[in-house]
Amino acid sequence: MLHEIAIRYVKGIGPQRAKLFDKLGIGTLEDLLYYFPRRYEDRTNFIPVSKLQEGSTHTIKAEVLVRGERRSFRRRGFSIVEVAVADQTGKIFCVWFNQPYLKDYFKVGQTLILYGRIERWGNRLQMNSPEFEIVSQDSDEPRPCAQGRGESLNIGRIVPIYSLPEGITQRQFRQLVKSALDEYLSQINDALPYDIRSRNNLLNLAKSLINIHFPQDPDMQKQAYERLAFEEFFLFQLPLVLRKLKKKERPGISHKVEGELVNNFISGLPFQLTLSQQKVIAEIKADMAKPITMQRLLQGDVGSGKTVVATIAGLMAIQGGYQVAFMVPTEILAKQHFEKIKGQVKEIKIALLTSSIDKNDKEKIYRQIKEGKVDLIIGTHALLEEDVQFKNLGLAVIDEQHKFGVGQRALLPKKGLNPDVLIMTATPIPRTLAITLYGDLDISVIRELPPGRGSIKTFSFTQKEESRAYSIAKAQIRQGNQAYIVYPVIEESYALDIAGAKKMYAEFKKGEFKEFRLGLIHGRLKQKEQDRIMRQFKKRELDILVSTTVLEVGIDIPNATCMIVEHAERFGLAQLHQLRGRIGRGKDESFCILISDSQTQEATRRLKAMVEYNDGFRIAEEDLKIRGPGEFFGARQSGLCELRIANPLTQMQLLKRAREEATKLLNFDPHLQARQNSLLKEKLLQRFPEYEKLMLVG
Ligand code: ADP
Ligand code: MG
Repeated sequence: MLHEIAIRYVKGIGPQRAKLFDKLGIGTLEDLLYYFPRRYEDRTNFIPVSKLQEGSTHTIKAEVLVRGERRSFRRRGFSIVEVAVADQTGKIFCVWFNQPYLKDYFKVGQTLILYGRIERWGNRLQMNSPEFEIVSQDSDEPRPCAQGRGESLNIGRIVPIYSLPEGITQRQFRQLVKSALDEYLSQINDALPYDIRSRNNLLNLAKSLINIHFPQDPDMQKQAYERLAFEEFFLFQLPLVLRKLKKKERPGISHKVEGELVNNFISGLPFQLTLSQQKVIAEIKADMAKPITMQRLLQGDVGSGKTVVATIAGLMAIQGGYQVAFMVPTEILAKQHFEKIKGQVKEIKIALLTSSIDKNDKEKIYRQIKEGKVDLIIGTHALLEEDVQFKNLGLAVIDEQHKFGVGQRALLPKKGLNPDVLIMTATPIPRTLAITLYGDLDISVIRELPPGRGSIKTFSFTQKEESRAYSIAKAQIRQGNQAYIVYPVIEESYALDIAGAKKMYAEFKKGEFKEFRLGLIHGRLKQKEQDRIMRQFKKRELDILVSTTVLEVGIDIPNATCMIVEHAERFGLAQLHQLRGRIGRGKDESFCILISDSQTQEATRRLKAMVEYNDGFRIAEEDLKIRGPGEFFGARQSGLCELRIANPLTQMQLLKRAREEATKLLNFDPHLQARQNSLLKEKLLQRFPEYEKLMLVG
C-alpha cells in the first residue's frame, strides 16, 4: 500500500530531502501523491514574439539565434547567460543569471519553449530566467499531455504550482511526483466503492491523481478535483454519520415536556418569545419527549436569547424529576446565569459550581448533587471533575461550545445515563459547514434578535482619532449609559508596542476620564475581586469598565452602550463580534469603536467587515473567507485540516452527495464488513484511528 512506503525510499529522495518533506507533512508515498498543487499555470498557448507585452507572463516557442555568456560589470564573477531567440514574428533576448552551465544547454537552431515574465531592459524587451524546455529533435511538438516518458512537465501544458519551501524547486518536485506516479500507478487502489463512483460520475483514483497533478486539460483537472474532494467529504462524513446512526439506536430519556414549571416560567417572562425561539423550543421539546437521546446544536447570534431557550429545556427535564447540568466557559458567565435564573425560577433548587469555590462548600455541593438535592447545576469546567456525580442527570447544556475542546464537551454527558444534550454556540456558521463539522448533531437555529433593541453603530478609527472615540464614550456616559474599553493584553508590551489594560486604567483615572468612575477587570485578578467589580458595574456604580477579553462571552448588561476596542487588529473577527455583542442589548442606540493603526490586508478586511455587518452569520462567512475553515475552527481541533481541497463553503452539492452516499452505505454495512468496503475501512481507520472503537461496538 502506498501509505506504507516511506518517502525516503522513493527514487530521487535522499535523507536530506526526506527531512524537507517531513516539514510539508509528506512522510509516505501516499502523502506525496496527495500533496496537491496550490494552483496551475496554463502554458499551452504560444504567443507570437511580436505580441509580447512588458510586465506580463507568457509562453513562447522560438528558435535559438545566438547564445553567449558574459560577466556582470557590476558584480564580480557573476555570470549572465544570454540567448537570442526568434519566431516568424520577431526576436527577443532570454537571460539567466549566475547559471553558467546553461550556456552549453542551448544550440543554435534549436527550438525552445520558454515561459517567463517579459521585462524591459534599456530599450529592449527580454525574458528574465524563463522556464524552458528544449523541443526534442525527433518530434517537432512537445507532447504536452501524453502520459508516457519524455513528455514535458514544465512547459507547453497546464503546469502545477506547489507550495514549496526553500531547498526544492517546482521543477524538481514536479519530476518527483511524476516519477512516483509512473512507478506506482499500478499500486494505487481505489477505496471508493465502484457503485458510488459510477452513480456519481467520479473518476477512478489513479486517473484523478494523474490529472490533479498533470491535467490533460482543464476539464480533466476539474473532474479530478471533484473526485478527490468527494473522497475527502465522504471519509469525513462516515464517522459522523455512523455516530448519528448509533445514537438513534441508543435509548434515551422520555422527558415530561408538558408541565406547570415550564408554563409558569414562560408566562412569567417580561417579554414574548420570538418566533425563532418558539420554533427551536418546539424542536427541542420534540426531541426530549422521545425515548432516544437528543444531540442538538443550537446556533444563534449574540444576544438572540439562547439562555431562555436553554432554561426552558432545563425546566422540561426538571419537571419530570431529572437533574440538569449547565456548563459555561467562564466564571463570570456562570455567576450571571446563576443569578438570573435564580431570580426567574423560585420553585427549583439551583447550585453554582466553579473552581474558585472553597473546598468545604464544594464538598457540600457535590453531596447535594449526588443525593439529588439540587435540580440545576450551573458551572464552569469544574463540573467535569470526578467528584461531581449526579443522581440522575437528564440534560446536559453546554453554552458557548467553541470555548471548550471536543474532549471536554463529550465529558459532561458521560456523567449521566444517556442524558439529552444541548450544545449552544454564538458563532453561527453556514449550514454546509455545520453539517461538515457537526454532522452527528441535529441543528436548530435562532434567526432573529428580540425586537426593541437599539441599533449598534460601528466605527473604525486610527489611533490619532482616539480622542473622538473618547468623546463618544463621554457623551454616552453623560446620558446615563456605561462604556467598556477593551485591551488585548493586561500588561503593556514594548516589544509589540501595544498598550495594556492595567496601565491605561491608571492613566485614564488621572487624565482622560478623571471625572468618571472607572473599574478594571482582567483574568489575573482574584475571582472575588472580579465579582465585586462586575457587581459594581451592573449596579451602575461604575461608568467605565476597562478590561481584557474576560468579558468576551455572555455578559449581559443592557445599560452599557459604548465599547472601545483598542488595538482591534489583534482580535479575530468572530472575537470582535462577540465583544461587540456586549453592547446593543438595551433599547438605546449603541456605539462600537474599533481603534487600530494596522495596515495589513487581513486586519483591514476584518475591520471593514465589522463596520459593514452586524449579523453574526454574515460575519462568520466573511471570517471564513478571510481565514479559511481550518484556521477558523482551529485546524487540529476540528479535523478540518483533513480537508485539503474539499471546501464546504463552495461545494455544497458535492458535500450533500457525499453525505447521502455515506448514509446509504452505513445503513447497509455499518461496520464496513462487506468485501467491497474493506479498502475503504482501511483508509478510514488510517485517517481517523479513533473510530476503530466506534465501529467495533455493536
Ligand atoms: P445569547 O443568545 O447571546 O446568549 P442571551 O440569552 O444572553 O443571549 O439574551 C440576551 C438578552 O435578551 C437577555 O437580557 C434576555 O433576557 C433577553 N431576551 C431573550 N429573549 C428575549 C425576547 N424574546 N424578547 C426580549 N428580550 C429577550
Ligand atoms: Mg449566551
